[in-house]
Amino acid sequence: MNKWDRLEQELQARKAHNLHRTLRVIDSAQSRWVRHGGRRMLMLASNAYLDLCSDARVLERAAQALRTHGMGSGGSRLTTGTTDLHTGLEHALARFKGREAAMVFNTGFAANYGVIAALCGEGDVILSDALNHASIIDGCRQSKARVVVYAHNDMADLERKAAEHRGARGLIVSDGVFSMDGDIVNLPELVRIADTYGFWSMIDDAHATGVLGPTGRGTEEHWGMQGAVDICMGTLSKALGAEGGWIAGPAVLVDYLQNTARSYVFSTSLSPAVMAAAHAALDILAAEPERVARLQENIRWFCACLQAQGLRIASQTAIVPIPVGDEKRAADAAEQLMREGYFINAIRWPTVKKGAAILRAALMSSHTREELEGAARAIARAVSGAGG
Ligand SMILES: *Cc1c(COP(=O)(O)O)cnc(C)c1O
Repeated sequence: MNKWDRLEQELQARKAHNLHRTLRVIDSAQSRWVRHGGRRMLMLASNAYLDLCSDARVLERAAQALRTHGMGSGGSRLTTGTTDLHTGLEHALARFKGREAAMVFNTGFAANYGVIAALCGEGDVILSDALNHASIIDGCRQSKARVVVYAHNDMADLERKAAEHRGARGLIVSDGVFSMDGDIVNLPELVRIADTYGFWSMIDDAHATGVLGPTGRGTEEHWGMQGAVDICMGTLSKALGAEGGWIAGPAVLVDYLQNTARSYVFSTSLSPAVMAAAHAALDILAAEPERVARLQENIRWFCACLQAQGLRIASQTAIVPIPVGDEKRAADAAEQLMREGYFINAIRWPTVKKGAAILRAALMSSHTREELEGAARAIARAVSGAGG
């Protein structure tokens, strides 16, 4: 028996069920057009919704920071890894969310994982949406709190479960925009329930920052409820085109997490250049809200194009899921689109349920109407042709 047989067998099983995944290499900057396999392709899969990964101003600020501050930070935030560029970005994030304070983690994953495990422990209760991101799920597990999963965005189910745990300490946590379905949390109800039953509310705005609300401030702004959420989480890695995750809230929360969140305390901080890039992107978002408007217009247009092709699809966010179901059909449809020059991914288990595979289209503010119309036609052909 070879030591690696066990892994080989597991991989074979995944291949047999069309669940095996491999890497696709991109030979260019992340933008609405990329180079892959020696050709130019229209990017329909990126979370870089505002097309800022290669914006000249972002690159210049990062390059300048590299010259003044160098590459690595030499240690964790509590030792050598806090520069004026880290704290400058954190002040800007606090202002962006209208909060007393903010803190940056190395990734969005590290933020959710570290924060939830730091805030909740044995004897506490965490109410978590069934479709929350993996980093929330893992943070819940790591916390040792009692985790109660409620039906996806089902506020009656949430309230029933919150009432069952009335008097307990803990947290209600949800994605603001759900990362695969692209739908939006029912924030007014979630906040009311959290306040009624005495739980903290925590919203993950990874896919809402730069996307929702007239100025891209996220889920609260979408609902006209600025300041309503106890713990705001977001990333620098999606619409803002850089890397990192962040938390914004009262100063006492940030002070506490700086001392207790293990993914923050025990990890070398991000490069100052990444902080400079993210700060530049945040400045561009504030100065050019028309980027958000263009993205929102693209979302409406793309959904209308898909509907004109007979697909019953609606989304209010940059994530437009096209349901396929069968894993092989979804993989074949994605392959066909890749051959036609559209970079798009089939999303399969474990990211979505088995038998519920989708094509996940993600839009950018820079896509043109013509590009999106062509993409909608190609998607309709690929989905209908994929053995359906
Ligand atoms: C991507 C994502 C994260 C993780 O953020 P990274 O910066 O990629 O680590 C967390 N939550 C949600 C909902 C996400 O989609």
